[in-house]
Amino acid sequence: MPEDERVIVVGGGAAGMIAAGTAASRGLDVLLIEKNKVLGRKLLLTGKGRCNITNSVEGINDFVANTPVNGKFLYSAFHAFSNHDLVKFFNKLGLKTKVERGGRVFPVSDKAADVVAALEKFLKQNKVQKIKGEVEKITVQEAIGGNVFLKDGRVFPGRDIIVATGGLSYPRTGSTGDGYRFARENGHTVTPLRPALIPLETEDRWPAELQGLALKNVAIFLYDGSNKLLYSDFGEMLFTHFGVSGPIILAASSYLNDIKVSSCSLAIDLKPALSEKQLDERIQRDFKKNANKYFANSLSDLLPSKLIPVIVKLSRISAEKPVNQVSRVERKGLVNLLKTLTLKIKGFRPIEEAIITSGGVAVAEINPKTMESKITKGLFFAGEVIDVNAYTGGFNLQIAFSTGHLAGMNCRARKV
Ligand SMILES: Cc1cc2nc3c(=O)[nH]c(=O)nc-3n(C[C@H](O)[C@H](O)[C@H](O)COP(=O)(O)OP(=O)(O)OC[C@H]3O[C@@H](n4cnc5c(N)ncnc54)[C@H](O)[C@@H]3O)c2cc1C
Repeated sequence: MPEDERVIVVGGGAAGMIAAGTAASRGLDVLLIEKNKVLGRKLLLTGKGRCNITNSVEGINDFVANTPVNGKFLYSAFHAFSNHDLVKFFNKLGLKTKVERGGRVFPVSDKAADVVAALEKFLKQNKVQKIKGEVEKITVQEAIGGNVFLKDGRVFPGRDIIVATGGLSYPRTGSTGDGYRFARENGHTVTPLRPALIPLETEDRWPAELQGLALKNVAIFLYDGSNKLLYSDFGEMLFTHFGVSGPIILAASSYLNDIKVSSCSLAIDLKPALSEKQLDERIQRDFKKNANKYFANSLSDLLPSKLIPVIVKLSRISAEKPVNQVSRVERKGLVNLLKTLTLKIKGFRPIEEAIITSGGVAVAEINPKTMESKITKGLFFAGEVIDVNAYTGGFNLQIAFSTGHLAGMNCRARKV
């Protein structure tokens, strides 16, 4: 087969690997170019090394609903390769999966490396040719084909070219935003790039004292500068040296993209299962039990030990006040503090720390049924490089797999 009749896939992440294997499974000659020595470096980090590959929600509409930015663009991609198809695909490759809380699907082994290994097996089965190389430039001419130029001077001609270079976050995994440049150079609009699913920095410094503390069953309420409720959620969050992170904080950050983040505040309800009255009664019982102790030593049944010194400080009740001398007003203040532990938000962490990049190649310029560029025929896009993004829970990887599959199904290796 002449060289210009092959398909070239740029980027060996989730989207690129599935695109390459799918195109090759159709009998096409496929070359996959990845700048790292190994494929799927970001995949290895996903789901804290366990890789939450997709979500078990039932219908395509649920996937679209969990994709707040340009979800509707993905109907065809989700339809062509759904979460059920993805699970079947991995099972066929020998990767068993399980469903956890919130419908999150993981490999039974809890190892992201097994997901990468399954994808590598798929590439091998379909005889995809892989090379290590950093792509510097892509040129495509309709019906003639394209050229992929590598930094080291090598040039690879190909018929159709799939750009699956990912976003801008976690650049040490290889996703340094090169695909946005390739898109622009081929006539595309790239919408503003911003971090999404990103930890939040706080003005208050006390979260640093709690660094590493995860709170499992808390409720959060995110307010804008005029105290309008923007988002509320229940689940797990984490304190860090800069502020707050963890699943419900990352989800909350998606609601801040178009809002002046530095004017927002976050209220944490540390005891969402109890009403203020119930919590007050509970504290009174604890105080009675600890009647002869100092205030600071009376909270161990109620709070994790790391949190106690911070709460004591914020409560403005003297740590060494005997608990039987804590006044009713002070106790009510404590209840209020535990129900609305408030932090002033300073901003997002840098985009490098985002789980995904918001913004990307404009969806209006991509055919949603094929993932082919409407501007430069022969150029395809798949995965995070496209201006779509979803919530946590496996939705972002499903987007990478569904769009990669669709591009792999529709690219051509022969002259038309
Ligand atoms: C810490 C973390 C945890 C996450 N956990 C989850 C999770 O559990 N579930 C979930 O659904 N999503 C998760 N995500 C998001 C998910 O990882 C991404 O949505 C997904 O990896 C996007 O896939 P992609 O193939 O488009 O891009 P990537 O996976 O980023 O792959 C792009 C590839 O292109 C290569 N490349 C880039 N430029 C060039 C070039 N010029 N030449 C050659 N190669 C190039 C890169 O080296 C890279 O290998 C997580 C993200 C992070 C950062």
